[in-house]
Amino acid sequence: SGALLRVEHLSLDYRIGGRTVRALDGADLVLDEGASIGVVGESGSGKSTLGSAVGRLLPRAAHLAGGGVRVAGEPVFDLAPAALRRLRRELLGFVFQDPIASLDPTMRVGRQLRLVLGRRAGDKEVAGHLERVRLDPAVARAYPHQLSGGMAQRVAIAMAMATEPRLLVADEPTAALDSQVREEVLNVVFGLAAEAGAGIVWLSHDLPAVARRCERVAVMYGGRVVEEGPAAEVLGRPAHPYTAALARSAPAAAGPGTRLVPVPGRPPVLTGPAPGCAFAPRCAFAIDRCSRERPALARVGGQTVLCHRAGEPVLTAAREAEVDA
Ligand code: ATP
Ligand code: MG
Repeated sequence: SGALLRVEHLSLDYRIGGRTVRALDGADLVLDEGASIGVVGESGSGKSTLGSAVGRLLPRAAHLAGGGVRVAGEPVFDLAPAALRRLRRELLGFVFQDPIASLDPTMRVGRQLRLVLGRRAGDKEVAGHLERVRLDPAVARAYPHQLSGGMAQRVAIAMAMATEPRLLVADEPTAALDSQVREEVLNVVFGLAAEAGAGIVWLSHDLPAVARRCERVAVMYGGRVVEEGPAAEVLGRPAHPYTAALARSAPAAAGPGTRLVPVPGRPPVLTGPAPGCAFAPRCAFAIDRCSRERPALARVGGQTVLCHRAGEPVLTAAREAEVDA
């Protein structure tokens, strides 16, 4: 398998006290070398858990319950600590929502960059990395608290990209920034990744932004990837009823004048493996089988879909009626 990233039927529990949350429940995802994918889904659908699992950077409460992750063929959950550290250092970069939290408050920016680059890195090299994220080299002398949110996130991006990762995992890197700064930061992230030929996994709530930036989109629901495919197809001709509902609820994707429709019903409560489709209780097209039997992955057009009724005319007809309305 030549894929850069392969998430194979990954199941992950958080155990706290006597309680278990099944955060991932058999999630599948494949990403080719150099490709970009936006992972979208409601809060709690498992996006951050999936992103962190790529580098096995999980909270202590997390426990692998099945499946695994391969990065460039390496089985992340089976690696010894030294091999895991090497894989993180050589192949992966991470950017998180809160840039200040990912920087050391006691250390000047330049020194933090030098720690990533290696002791021999000179001022010129540090300046070069700051310029690549469109920061003034003078920022090297600043402490993190002296930076704006957008600047701090650029520093975090510079650090994540400094080691030339083959895969960058960005978990809502712009959620804390205002909209203009957000676009600039995304330009930097996608520009650097494209230049370096690095793949991107971008975890986001922002469907329209993902549609503009990513080649592919994965939609998560209840700890599973329920639909994956080329961005234009997944968002323009959703094959899973949940994707269709999500696309309807997204502001810009719906177009001017369209009323926003919240996805009806409540998100699933996941305490263990769901017997059927996790979306069945909220799905207008659910049949008996949906609540009893776990759907298998099906192909519909360019998409991979986790739905018993995938490709049935009733779904296609409903979708086309919506587009016309
Ligand atoms: P959001 O859009 O809000 O960031 P998400 O899609 O990233 O959500 P996750 O953060 O992966 O979702 O959470 C998946 C599930 O795991 C949720 O039910 C969440 O409450 C639970 N969870 C996440 N992190 C922890 C943790 N450290 N300890 C216990 N439960 C957790
Ligand atoms: Mg999250």
